[in-house]
Amino acid sequence: MPELPEVETIKNELLPHILGCRVNGVTLLWEGIVRQPSVKEFCSRLIGQRLTGLARRGKYLIFSLTSGEVLIIHLKMTGSLLLKPALTEADKFVRATLHLDKETELHFRDPRKLGVMWLVEDADSVVGKLGPEPLEAGFTPQVLAQRLANRTAPIKALLSDQTFIAGIGNMYADEALFAARIHPLRSGGSLSSEEVERLHRAIQQVLWSAIANKGASTDTYFRPDGTRGTAHFQFQVAHRLSGKFCPVCGTPIERIPIRNRGSYFCPKCQAQGV
Ligand SMILES: [Zn+2]
Repeated sequence: MPELPEVETIKNELLPHILGCRVNGVTLLWEGIVRQPSVKEFCSRLIGQRLTGLARRGKYLIFSLTSGEVLIIHLKMTGSLLLKPALTEADKFVRATLHLDKETELHFRDPRKLGVMWLVEDADSVVGKLGPEPLEAGFTPQVLAQRLANRTAPIKALLSDQTFIAGIGNMYADEALFAARIHPLRSGGSLSSEEVERLHRAIQQVLWSAIANKGASTDTYFRPDGTRGTAHFQFQVAHRLSGKFCPVCGTPIERIPIRNRGSYFCPKCQAQGV
């Protein structure tokens, strides 16, 4: 699933190509991709608008429009946004195409059909409940400590909870916990202040490094030009590394389910209760 570094990369790489573009038309090949408003209204309100900005909040992309409304996109598990020259034939997984001026099209490709688009007046109606942005200046070790205090849920579950902290999912939660040497099942409130500082640093390090590597293409993530990111080559434990060995101590990496997601960790480096 695209997480913060993937969505940030998409935002950075789309922005110079789409800024100021007019939406000349919309083709919906899978109408279920529009969550709000109705499909008919979505198209009629979007067509004719210019894209005046693009921002990321958590795993959401927020396109601002001349009307003052915003187009919000969530790529969910398998979505990508591909920039194509005008009149490019859509492949079978493209669910929606925005026809822009300057001879450009934006293809929303999504094999599993889980991605969503909203056209709303107030972005907060969609993203208002998200937790803090982990790479913003306001996200300090103190903020993390306050949010963790008295929490009994496993730290892995908290890190992947979008209302606790925005943008982190399964892959980067595993990577951050490994870098901070914290067991994924530790309860949030049990972390010492030193561990909280280590985790804060690890979260930022892991996310910045993945952005520098243009995101992780473990399965269906593509950059807007159709190429793949390389962040997964830096992964120490995350994602499909079952049966591999810890790069630090050589112990076999373990996989346990936490809230129905596989969590990868080193049982020695991330010993429970340390
Ligand atoms: Zn280890």
